[in-house]
Amino acid sequence: YIGELLHRLPDFVKRFNLPAEKIKIYCIEAAPKVLPMFDPKLVDYAVNYLKNQGVEFYTETPITEVKKGAVISKDKAFNANTVIWTTGVKGSHVINDSGYTQKRNRVAVQNDLSSSDDPNEFIIGDVSAVPSPDGRFYPTTGQISVAQATLAASNIIAKLNNQKTSPFTYHSLGTVCSLGPTNGVAELSFMGHWKLKGHK
Ligand SMILES: Cc1cc2nc3c(=O)[nH]c(=O)nc-3n(C[C@H](O)[C@H](O)[C@H](O)COP(=O)(O)OP(=O)(O)OC[C@H]3O[C@@H](n4cnc5c(N)ncnc54)[C@H](O)[C@@H]3O)c2cc1C
Repeated sequence: YIGELLHRLPDFVKRFNLPAEKIKIYCIEAAPKVLPMFDPKLVDYAVNYLKNQGVEFYTETPITEVKKGAVISKDKAFNANTVIWTTGVKGSHVINDSGYTQKRNRVAVQNDLSSSDDPNEFIIGDVSAVPSPDGRFYPTTGQISVAQATLAASNIIAKLNNQKTSPFTYHSLGTVCSLGPTNGVAELSFMGHWKLKGHK
C-alpha cells in the first residue's frame, strides 16, 4: 500500500493542491519487523526503497488508539489527519453470533478442516483457523482458501464413502509484495524457489 501511495502522491498533490512539504508517511507496525513472510534480504530491499523516499518505519509499536489528529502508541503520538488502517483480515461476526467456539470470528478447525464441534461440518476461508506445522495458524489468504476448498471437497467425498479424511498440507506458490507499479519483492515456488526484487 505504501509503495502505491508514494507513486501516486505527486499526482494527488497536483490534483488536490496539497502542501507537499507537509506530507510525511509513517508505517507503524506492532511486530518486530515488517513483511515477516519474506527473506530478510528482500525485507531490507523493500524497507530501504521506501525509506529512501522518506517513509519512516516504527516497528514494535502497537497502536493503542486512533483519535482525531493523532495515532497513539502507548506514550507516543503520531500527529496525522489521514490514517490508513491495514491491520489485517478477520472473520465474520456471524461466526460468533452463531455460537461457534471462535477467536476473532475465526474457528480453530481440525487438521482435516472439520469443525471440532461437528466432524461433519467443514469450515474454510477467512472464518477458519487452520493449525500450521509451526504451531501457529495459517494466515488468511486467497491462496490458502483455495487450497482449503480443494481439500474440504475431497474430505467430504471421503466421508461419504466411509474413508479416512486427509490432513491439510500447504505448498505456497509464492508471495508478492508490490512497491508501486514498477518495483517489488517476491518469493516464488515454481520450478525451484525464487527470491526476486527490483524495478521493471
Ligand atoms: C485488501 C485485501 C487484500 C488482499 N490481498 C490478498 C492477496 O494479495 N493474496 C491473497 O492470497 N489474499 C489476499 N487477501 C485475502 C483474501 O482476499 C481472503 O483471504 C480470501 O478472499 C478469503 O476467502 P473467503 O471465501 O473466506 O472470503 P471472501 O473472499 O471475503 O468471501 C466472503 C463473501 O461473503 C460475503 N458475505 C460476508 N458476510 C456475509 C453475510 N453476512 N451474508 C452473506 N454474504 C456475506 C462477502 O460479501 C464476500 O463476497 C486480501 C484481502 C484484503 C482485504
